[in-house]
Amino acid sequence: MKTNLLALPLDQAEAALRDFFTSRGEPAYRTEQAFRRLWKEPVRSFEEITDLPARLRAELDAAFELPSLTLAARQRSSDGTEKFLFQLSDGQAIETVAIPDRGRMTFCISSQAGCALQCAFCATGLMGFARNLGLHEIAGQVRELALLDPPVRATNIVFMGMGEPMMNWPAVDATLTVLNDPRAFGIGSRHITVSTVGVLPGIVSLAARPEQFRLAISIHAPNDTLRRSLMPINVKYPLREVIDAAREFDRRVTFEYVMLGGVNDQPAQAKELAALARDCGAFVNLIPLHPGGAGDFVPTTSREIRDFATRLSREGIEVAVRKSRGTDISAACGQLRVERLRRRAPGRAEQDREVDEAGRIGA
Ligand code: SAH
Repeated sequence: MKTNLLALPLDQAEAALRDFFTSRGEPAYRTEQAFRRLWKEPVRSFEEITDLPARLRAELDAAFELPSLTLAARQRSSDGTEKFLFQLSDGQAIETVAIPDRGRMTFCISSQAGCALQCAFCATGLMGFARNLGLHEIAGQVRELALLDPPVRATNIVFMGMGEPMMNWPAVDATLTVLNDPRAFGIGSRHITVSTVGVLPGIVSLAARPEQFRLAISIHAPNDTLRRSLMPINVKYPLREVIDAAREFDRRVTFEYVMLGGVNDQPAQAKELAALARDCGAFVNLIPLHPGGAGDFVPTTSREIRDFATRLSREGIEVAVRKSRGTDISAACGQLRVERLRRRAPGRAEQDREVDEAGRIGA
């Protein structure tokens, strides 16, 4: 069995390479020559590490693997946003979105295939949960885009693709290191945001990391009754406890609040939301509902969104209205990988068909 070097946490991958070279009596700098090719200056195969002698490249290839994700489709929005569909070795498919904005390039990455949470307005929930992604599949999304010609490189990362990152913490934890460590992608911790529905143990684990990773919490409703009806997870992790966790988090937290017409966008709800945000010093991001999610929700009009924002800001809350990007290619929040999968759990044949379809659209 070959060892998958991309599935090993960064330090373990380095140690595996060091053992490999020292056991062959090779000088220490060989480790560095191979190690930086995992993430920092990625290669598709050991054969491409041309500063290593051919004999060592062949031996590396016999001992280790550098598995890639298969790029099954690529679609470009009129606003420059790009959506990438990757097929994994077991047939699962995941999506990654690259959003260019004034010199920044934000990648929206997936942490699970499907999602178990069933938020009422989110399309990923309709698919059901398939499985957690491994480090090589989460950080692998960033790696694959860096390997394109020309490369697409991230300056910012948000865990706002498919899945709930805090339900896959060990892999997300290892991914954060690969994203941030200067020996790997070297993306500043303040440019990396983990978004969660409020899974408390995950928030505690993120807070325990010494780096300044950002936390976003999907709030979406300002009281338990409404939130329970939109987000079943609220039964397990009620709002009060989520707000307390946000207050204890030592960095500024962002609330995400998707605007659902007539459901959570009323003046009284702005007041309730302001109280929660004030309580934990949160910044509020209002997200226009993207059609193509789930349920029968209607978007709040942009005028009403502005009014809602004004109410929050009069209450002393810092608030922004998020721009919709990539809507013409279904690359917006909560829309990923659903066009062919409505109301059905993912099955293999189903996915293959979806890949074909998406490929045609992209071509
Ligand atoms: N599970 C995590 C991360 C993935 S979702 C979380 O929920 O935070 C990223 C964001 O997209 C969440 O805030 C989610 O609520 C939002 N979202 C889901 N469906 C949406 C839709 N149809 N329109 C707008 N935002 C949506």
